Amino acid sequence: MLDSKHFNNLQNIVGKQDCYNDKAHLIAYCYDATRERYEPDAVVYPQNELQVSEILKYCNTHKITLIPRGAGSGFTGGALPSSGGVILAMEKHFNNILEIDEKNLIARVQPAVINKHFQNIIEQKGLFYPPDPASQDYSTLGGNVSENAGGMRAAKYGITKDYVMALRAVLPNGDIIRAGKKTIKDVAGYNIVGTLIASEGTLAVITELTLKLIAKPRFKRSAMGIFATIDDAMNAVYKTMASGITPVAMEFLDNLSICAVEDRFHKGLPKDAGAIIITQVDGDLQELLDYQLHALQAKFKENNCKEFKIAQNEQEEEDLWFARRNASQSITIYGKKKLNEDITVPRARLPELLAGIGEISKKYGFKIPCFGHTGDGNVHTNVMVEDLKDLQRGHEAITEIFKLAVDLEGTLSGEHGIGLSKASFMELAFTKEEMNLFRNLKRAFDPNNILNPGKMGL
Ligand SMILES: Cc1cc2nc3c(=O)[nH]c(=O)nc-3n(C[C@H](O)[C@H](O)[C@H](O)COP(=O)(O)OP(=O)(O)OC[C@H]3O[C@@H](n4cnc5c(N)ncnc54)[C@H](O)[C@@H]3O)c2cc1C
Repeated sequence: MLDSKHFNNLQNIVGKQDCYNDKAHLIAYCYDATRERYEPDAVVYPQNELQVSEILKYCNTHKITLIPRGAGSGFTGGALPSSGGVILAMEKHFNNILEIDEKNLIARVQPAVINKHFQNIIEQKGLFYPPDPASQDYSTLGGNVSENAGGMRAAKYGITKDYVMALRAVLPNGDIIRAGKKTIKDVAGYNIVGTLIASEGTLAVITELTLKLIAKPRFKRSAMGIFATIDDAMNAVYKTMASGITPVAMEFLDNLSICAVEDRFHKGLPKDAGAIIITQVDGDLQELLDYQLHALQAKFKENNCKEFKIAQNEQEEEDLWFARRNASQSITIYGKKKLNEDITVPRARLPELLAGIGEISKKYGFKIPCFGHTGDGNVHTNVMVEDLKDLQRGHEAITEIFKLAVDLEGTLSGEHGIGLSKASFMELAFTKEEMNLFRNLKRAFDPNNILNPGKMGL
C-alpha cells in the first residue's frame, strides 16, 4: 500500500494528470497476457527522462517498488505488480520516433513506440527492421528489447538483440546512463546494452533506443512442405538450414495443430500429415527467389517431403500463412486450460525434442500440440488440460518438458522471457553459481530491489 504522502509526492513530480490511484486505473494495469491479476498501488506516466530519474530517485530513497510497463502484452507476467507498487507506464509520453538516420541505417526511438508503427514508417523509406513478434501490432519496442522478442523472420534475420546498437536508461538511484554507440564496431567497456536486453525491467528503465536498420528486400515468396511424420519434418528443418539455404522463416505445425485449424476453418489442410512446414524466402531478384525455392524443395524431398506447394499469387501466399497464424487459438479445442511454453533447442536437436514431447504426452495422457519457429529451434508446446483437477499434473508435464529442453542444450524460453510464470524453473537451467552471479548483478544495479522485484527468479 502506497501511503498518501508518497502518492502526493509522485504527483508533484509528474502532475495530477499523469499520476493516478483510482480504481479504474488500478484495474487497467493489473493484467498482462498471462491473465494473472495483481493490482498496483498507483500508475504514473512520466513525460520525459528527467521525470523518470526523479521518480526512481524518490522511490529508491523510500524503497517503493516500481514496475516499468510497455503495452502489457507479455506472456510471463513481467509487467505485473506481483507485490504491489507503482506502475511506470511509458506508453503515454514515450512514443516518438526521434530520428531516422538514412545515411547510417539507424533509427533512434522512444521505448513505447509500437513495433508495427515503427516498421510501417521506416518501410516507406525502403528500410527494414526485421524483429516481428506476433504481437507487433500492439507491443512496444521497449518491451521487445526488455524481453528480447523474436518472430517468424528470426531464422534469417535474427532477433531483437541483433538490432539494438545503443540505448539510454535510468538506474534505480536516478542516474541517467548511455550505453553502446551508433558505430557498427564498439568494443570499449562492458556490454551494458547486452546486459539490459532481456532484463525484463529488473535493472533499469530504458528511455531511448538506437536500432539498426537494413534495406528492405524487394520480393518474397512462400511455400509449404507436407511430411508424413514429424521426425521427417524436423530432420528437413535442420538439414536444410545446415546446407546453407537460409529462408526467412521455417514455421511448423504438428498433426494436432493442423487438424485443429482445419476442423475450424476448412482450408484444405492435410489432416493425415505428421507435420507441415511453411517457409518463406526473400531477396531483390525474382530469379534468386526461384533458385532458393527449388533448393528448398530439393532439400525437403531428400527428407521425405510428400508434397511441396509454392504459392503462385498473393492469395495463395496468404492462405499458406493462415494455418500458422491461427494455430494458437484453434488448438484450444483440446482442453479447457492451455499451458503454453516456448522452449528452444539447437536446431539439430529438434527431432529428439519432438520425440521426447511425444513420450511425455503418452506418459501423462495430455494432448500436447506443438507449432512454432523451427527455423530457429523455437517450439511452442501446449499442454492441454481438459479437466481442471488435472492442472497439477499438467504442470508436472511442463516441468518434464523444460528438463528435456535443457538436457538437449536448449533453454526455458526463446521469446517470452521468465517473468513470474517461469521464475521457479530458473534453477533447472542455471547452476547455483550462475544464479548467484545474476543476483549479484541485480544488486549492483538495484541494491534496494525496487525495480520489478520477484521477476526472473531473482
Ligand atoms: C498474441 C501474442 C503473441 C505474441 N507473440 C510473440 C512473439 O511472436 N514473439 C515474442 O517474442 N513475444 C511474443 N509475445 C509476447 C510479448 O508480446 C512480447 O514479450 C513483447 O515484447 C512485450 O512487449 P510489451 O510492450 O507488451 O511489454 P510489457 O508486457 O509491457 O513488458 C514486458 C517486460 O518489459 C519490461 N519493460 C517494458 N518497457 C520497459 C522499459 N521502457 N524499460 C525497462 N523495462 C521495460 C516490463 O517491466 C516487463 O518485464 C506475444 C504476446 C501475445 C499476447
